[in-house]
Amino acid sequence: MSQQIVTRFAPSPTGYLHIGGARTALFNWLYARGRGGKFLLRIEDTDHARSTPEATAAILRGLDWLGLDHDGEAVSQAAGAARHAEVAHQMLADGNAYKCFATQDEIETFRETARAENRSTLFQSPWRDADPATFPDRPYVVRLRTPTEGVTVIRDEVQGDVTIRNDQLDDMVLLRSDGTPVYMLAVVVDDHDMGVTHVIRGDDHLNNAARQIGIYTAMGWDIPVWAHIPLIHGPDGKKLSKRHGALGVEEYQAMGYPAAGMRNYLARLGWSHGNDEFFNDSQAREWFDLSGINKSPARLDFKKLENLCGQHIAVASDAALLHELQAYLAAAEKSPLSEAQARGIERALYCLKDRVKIYPELIEKAHFVLTSTPLSMDEKAAKMLDSVSRGILLALTPQLQNASWTRDELEAVLNRVAEENGTKFGKLAGPLRAALAGRTVTPSVFDMMLVLGRDESILRLSQAAAYEG
Ligand code: GLU
Repeated sequence: MSQQIVTRFAPSPTGYLHIGGARTALFNWLYARGRGGKFLLRIEDTDHARSTPEATAAILRGLDWLGLDHDGEAVSQAAGAARHAEVAHQMLADGNAYKCFATQDEIETFRETARAENRSTLFQSPWRDADPATFPDRPYVVRLRTPTEGVTVIRDEVQGDVTIRNDQLDDMVLLRSDGTPVYMLAVVVDDHDMGVTHVIRGDDHLNNAARQIGIYTAMGWDIPVWAHIPLIHGPDGKKLSKRHGALGVEEYQAMGYPAAGMRNYLARLGWSHGNDEFFNDSQAREWFDLSGINKSPARLDFKKLENLCGQHIAVASDAALLHELQAYLAAAEKSPLSEAQARGIERALYCLKDRVKIYPELIEKAHFVLTSTPLSMDEKAAKMLDSVSRGILLALTPQLQNASWTRDELEAVLNRVAEENGTKFGKLAGPLRAALAGRTVTPSVFDMMLVLGRDESILRLSQAAAYEG
């Protein structure tokens, strides 16, 4: 049996879940879920000064909204400090690491001299091969004994083989002088202990991989498969920053982007499968592969995001849409749908989900079922109402009383009444929309009548006939 795939997402909880982090999480999730593997979550909270519980909570909420469920409990990196230190001590005992007593001043002096003599400023510790009998009684750091010759090759699934000369790597510190482990060590120990087989992360960590390989090698551990993905750029091709607009995924939720559309779009951001643009989760899981990840940075394209979101809303099940709408309203700090409003939307969803891209548009289109009589007209609707004689609205009432409430019959009635009044249905549609919804952007007149039912439709038409603004 081949080895089970284990991926992980390892955010540092120093802020919200940004769009790049969300994409990294998604890639790891897709890779594992498409292969019967595990997707783990590790909170890299070793930087006590910058990590906050609020940021952890925001990251968890963001992942939850995107539906990126992880296996098992989220692991706290900080909680593993003793284990990380234990590994450093193991390397010390094996001779793969050594105690370095050099002070900051000595290191600075080393660098200055090296600079003056035009040599590499990478620190070379005089303690690397020192006799323990000469060890002073003062604090020390533990450094990795990095080979000074040869090369380290990062076999990367996205970047290809990246070769780094070992003489360009210094003997990195593993334990600080107070005995605490450094971040780089923690990452390797955790990935090893968690059984991570594939590390998919931003290419800002590519350089770290060379150092991390040193730790794997010293411990005789299997090196995971690396995939360092290019960062996301703004629409202008420049590094993503605040000026490009929303960066936190929760902002997207609050703006009303559906999670399914967001997943589809983020999957396409830097990864492709032929010409496929619109796909669902099971297709994404089936298709996602490291070989489809692009080498160059992806650019955010909000038009494409909206377009995909619209397509996902159009195919979503009513139950899922209703659930997401409520979550959107909560995220946007708007009042929730009442029971009656939810039932109204449910009846109307079939004619609301086409041609809207984000939830606020859907809510706007749903206004006719969310509002109650007497309707207040917006300015455009009030104008529209006066584009025909109000008498036509009243003339409709008896005809509608006797009609059977089907699309065909409603069409026939409205066409007939239009004709009797010397006009065409096309001319009546606008005023009817206004009368039924108090708005001009609505589903079709027939759909609104079918959803509202006979009594409510007739009530709205007669109230509109008498509307005085
Ligand atoms: N904690 C790192 C970050 O948030 C990720 C480290 C890793 O994936 O190895 O950028």
